[in-house]
Amino acid sequence: MKIVTWNINGIRTFKTGIKKILDSFDADIICVQETKVTRDLLDENTAIVDGYNSYFSFSRGRGGYSGVATYCKDSATPFLAEEGLTGLLITHEEAVGCYGDQLEFSSEELLALDNEGRAVITQHHFTGADGPQKLTVINVYCPRADPDKPERKQYKLQFYKLLQSRAEAILRSGSHLIVLGDVNTSHRPIDHCDPDDVDNFEDNPGRKWLDHFLSATSENCDTEDEFGDISQKSAPGGKFVDSFRHFHPKRSDAFTCWSTMTGARQTNYGTRIDYIFSNRFLVENVFSGVDIMPEVEGSDHCPVWAQLSCTLLPSTKFPPLCTRHMPEFTGRQQKLSRFFIKVSEKPNLSKGSKQSLPGSQEPGEIIENLNPLVQANNMIKKRPADKEAETNAHKAKKSKLTKTESKPKGNILAFFKPKQTPLYPPSPELNTDPGSETSGCLTNAKLTDDTDCNSTQTKSSDVPTDTCVSMVTKTKNLDKKDKETAPVEICSKGSCSSFWKEVLHGPPQPPLCKSHNEPCVLRTVKKAGPNLGRQFFVCARPQGHASNPQARCNFFAWVDKGK
Ligand code: ZN
Repeated sequence: MKIVTWNINGIRTFKTGIKKILDSFDADIICVQETKVTRDLLDENTAIVDGYNSYFSFSRGRGGYSGVATYCKDSATPFLAEEGLTGLLITHEEAVGCYGDQLEFSSEELLALDNEGRAVITQHHFTGADGPQKLTVINVYCPRADPDKPERKQYKLQFYKLLQSRAEAILRSGSHLIVLGDVNTSHRPIDHCDPDDVDNFEDNPGRKWLDHFLSATSENCDTEDEFGDISQKSAPGGKFVDSFRHFHPKRSDAFTCWSTMTGARQTNYGTRIDYIFSNRFLVENVFSGVDIMPEVEGSDHCPVWAQLSCTLLPSTKFPPLCTRHMPEFTGRQQKLSRFFIKVSEKPNLSKGSKQSLPGSQEPGEIIENLNPLVQANNMIKKRPADKEAETNAHKAKKSKLTKTESKPKGNILAFFKPKQTPLYPPSPELNTDPGSETSGCLTNAKLTDDTDCNSTQTKSSDVPTDTCVSMVTKTKNLDKKDKETAPVEICSKGSCSSFWKEVLHGPPQPPLCKSHNEPCVLRTVKKAGPNLGRQFFVCARPQGHASNPQARCNFFAWVDKGK
C-alpha cells in the first residue's frame, strides 16, 4: 500500500489532468491539502476521477481558501469516511467515530475549528499478521499562525490539541492510524533552512506540541546526535512517529515547502512541514519506506510518500461522504456502480445540496477559478505571503481581477495614465486597502517562530523590518519604452506636467548589488506604515541561506524620490 500527501496550493494544480497526476503517484491513497475549492464550485472532473473515489472537506466561511481531499483507488475504497475532527459536520450515520475528550473546547470553538475544511478521515481495512486490522487516515491541513494575528496563534494550537485528542481516541479504539498533511510547523532545527535565525526556536508552541504528539525516543533516535539533546530527553513523548525521520534520521536539507515569492526553491531554502505521522507499531513493522518528492513541481509544497507492506481490502460500497453520492454526480455514480460494485440503493440526498452550504464564492472568484490565465497572473502574487490570513481576500481578489484586466498592453497611452494605473505593473495589490493583509505581501521580517515557509524572508539587518513588498521587474524595458515612444503631445492640456517630468525622467536605474555586481530589482513597500509606497532595490537573486554565495545578498537601497 502506498500513500501520498501533497499541499497542492489550489485544485488548479490538477487542471492539466487530474487522473494523470493521481496515476503518476502510483498510490492507493492520495491526500491533498489547500484545494481552495468550495462545495458549490466542486466540478465533476475534480470530484469523479475514473478508478478513484474521493472525499472532500470544504471551507464554510470563505471561498478560495483551505480545503482538503482524499482520493482512494477503487481497490482501496474506505469503509468509513468523515469530514472534520469534531463530529459536528456529520450528516450521515456511518462515521468513523471516536471523538476523544472535547470538554476543554466550547461548542463555538469546536464549530470554528471545523469550519475551514481542514480534515478528512477515512478508515480502511487490511489483513495483518494477527488477522483483519483497521487503518484510519487523518488527512489534515493545520492552520498557519499569522504573526500579526494573535487569535490565529490560539486557533492553530487549539487545532493541534483537537487533532491530538481525536487521533489518540482513534488509536485507543484499536485502529492503526496515519496522520498526514501540511502541519505548518517544522519540528526540529534539521527541518528548517535557518533555525539559528529563529528566535527561541525550541520554544515555539507548535514545536512543543509536536514534542508531545510525537514519540520522543526510539531505537533510531538514541544513536543520533540530532536527537540526543536535553529537550528531547525531557520531552514526555507522544504516541506517534514522524515516519520520514524514522527512515532518515539524519538527512538534512529535506524540505517540503519553499517561499515562491523569493525563489527560495532554487536554493532549497525551505522547511519540512509536510509529514506522514503514524503509530509506532505501524512505522516499525509495516512501513517499508518514506520519502519526499522535491522534484514534483506545481505547488509551493512538494509531495511526500510512504510505502507500507500491506494490502488494503476495499469496501464494496462507497461511504456516504463519497463525492459519488453528491446529488449532481449521482448519475455518473450509478452508471459506474452497475459495472463495478453493489451500492446501496439510495444515494444520500441529505448531504451537500447547494442551498445548504454557505461559503459560495463571489463572481470574481468563480471567474478566477474558471480562467487559469487570470489565475496564473494572480498566483505569483497571491501565494507567497499569507496563504492563511486572507480575511480580506475577497476585496483584494476583486481588485486584482479588475486591474489584471485593465493592465495596459499595447496601448502606451493607457500605460501612462497617471492615476488609475500604477507605473510599475505587476503589483495589483498596491492599491488595495493598505491595512488589509493582502495575500501576496511578503513579511520582510526575520524568520519568525512560525515556521511556515512563507514567513521567511530576507534577513539582512539593513532591510526595513516593517516592509511588505511586491516584486517589480523589467524596469529596463519600461525605461526604454517610454523614452522611445512617449507621446508628449497628449500632455497639451498642461495639467500633467509634473507627472510627465517624473515619467520622462524614467524609472530609477537599478544599481548593482555589492556581492554579485548584478542589477537589482525594484520593490515597493506594501505594508501599512511610515514607509508605505516607498520603493527600494534589493539583490535580484533568489532567497537563500546567508552562507550561500549563490543566493540573494543583503544589498538594500531606498529609491530616493526627492532627486
Ligand atoms: Zn547580489
